[in-house]
Amino acid sequence: MRCPYCNEEMQKGFIPNGGQPVQWIPDGGKPSLLSFSIAEKGVLLISKFSPLKVNGYRAEAHYCSKCKVVIAPTKE
Ligand SMILES: [Zn+2]
Repeated sequence: MRCPYCNEEMQKGFIPNGGQPVQWIPDGGKPSLLSFSIAEKGVLLISKFSPLKVNGYRAEAHYCSKCKVVIAPTKE
């Protein structure tokens, strides 16, 4: 994936999380109180749950070290 700001190739990576799917929540929104659940206004990032690993969910994300930005695709 190329950085939309500088057009350089971005580094592939991920955002780790615990027991809930990785999600973006708008200001004023609240995370769900339940494990494995998405907030009412949450936008789910593409993440996989690996129950056998201690990390739990992880969302794919791309990082540009030049612009200091992380971009994470969502499912919507
Ligand atoms: Zn960049």
